[in-house]
Amino acid sequence: MFRVTLDGIIMVYVVIILCSVFFSWLAAEVFRRGKESRRRKHFVVCAICDQLYEDRSSEELSDCPKCGARNERERVSDI
Ligand SMILES: [Zn+2]
Repeated sequence: MFRVTLDGIIMVYVVIILCSVFFSWLAAEVFRRGKESRRRKHFVVCAICDQLYEDRSSEELSDCPKCGARNERERVSDI
C-alpha cells in the first residue's frame, strides 16, 4: 500500500485537467482544418487572370467565368 498525499492528489487532478484541455483543443483544431480543407477544395484560382471562383463540380479542369480559360484544380495557398 502506498501513501497518498494531498499534493499528489492535486497534481493528478491538474494533470488530468490539462490533458483534457489539450486533447479538446487538438480535436477542435483537427476538425477545423478538415472543414477548411473541404471548403477550399471547391475554390480555383485562374492562372491567366487570377480570378478566384468557386467550382463545385468534381472535374479536374474548370472554366474561368471571367476569361474562359481552362484551369487545373489545385489548393489555394494561404496568404
Ligand atoms: Zn480567368
